[in-house]
Amino acid sequence: MARRRWSVNLYGERREIAKRWPDGSYQCPWCSGPVMRALALCGNPACEANPATTRETADKWRAAQAAREAEARERERIVAIRARMREPMTQDA
Ligand SMILES: [Zn+2]
Repeated sequence: MARRRWSVNLYGERREIAKRWPDGSYQCPWCSGPVMRALALCGNPACEANPATTRETADKWRAAQAAREAEARERERIVAIRARMREPMTQDA
């Protein structure tokens, strides 16, 4: 049975399809959603590999994701600073 090996998103980036079921359906490597037929494309309306997704929409998703990641990095930075401030001061002889 013919089957798709790669999934390409609307940016032209590709990911290998790693998980399949015996009936030929597979897990979308972009959104982890099930794709019901071996040669079908992802139908998840929130997926970059869905051919109906517009570039404008995907750009917004990526900007929101980048903002969340920057926020998480900032939180980690603050936690690390606070942890350092709780350490006892050391004095060099
Ligand atoms: Zn998908």
